[in-house]
Amino acid sequence: MYHDLFRDASFWSFLFSVDQDLAATTRTQGCSCGGRLHCANYPRQARGGGQDLPRSYDYRLSFCCDRDGCRKRATPPSARFLGRKVYLGAVVVLVAAMQQGPSPRRVRELSDLFDADRRTIARWRVFWREHFPQTPFWKVARSRFVPKLAIADLPRALFDAFIHSDDSSQDWERLLRFLSPITITGGLWSKGIS
Ligand SMILES: [Zn+2]
Repeated sequence: MYHDLFRDASFWSFLFSVDQDLAATTRTQGCSCGGRLHCANYPRQARGGGQDLPRSYDYRLSFCCDRDGCRKRATPPSARFLGRKVYLGAVVVLVAAMQQGPSPRRVRELSDLFDADRRTIARWRVFWREHFPQTPFWKVARSRFVPKLAIADLPRALFDAFIHSDDSSQDWERLLRFLSPITITGGLWSKGIS
């Protein structure tokens, strides 16, 4: 099952390499003022990935403009961290998806597997059902799914759309890259949602 993959440190190392790739793109673009971007990673908590999470999960890749008077921070999209959420993005997808579908997992079981309490898991359901569909990202991105994905089926419908081949790591990469625009500042919340 998929949570076995989430116990495998090489899966998390792989997702870190995806983040390095996303960060390289951001760095190449530079700052909007024309300045160059310097490394300015910042510390992060990362929960839900088990005991063997690589050290690279102690921080999020980020940059800072090198020009005096600007010094603007530029944080690339991430395949690992979902905005400010403490739990890893893949876990926030998987746990909510496992509560849906033909044989939903019980909250207690998921709570044990991913070290997340009942209230946290309930918040993820609200996130996928109420907040995510309101993001500018989803309002555009939903058009690529034919037939349309029902909001009530999120995130299970996304999970099913991306994760179905023999190579789950690659499938997860595609899904998390797809979602990565919501992981940067301003990506998760549109006006009117707090
Ligand atoms: Zn700048």
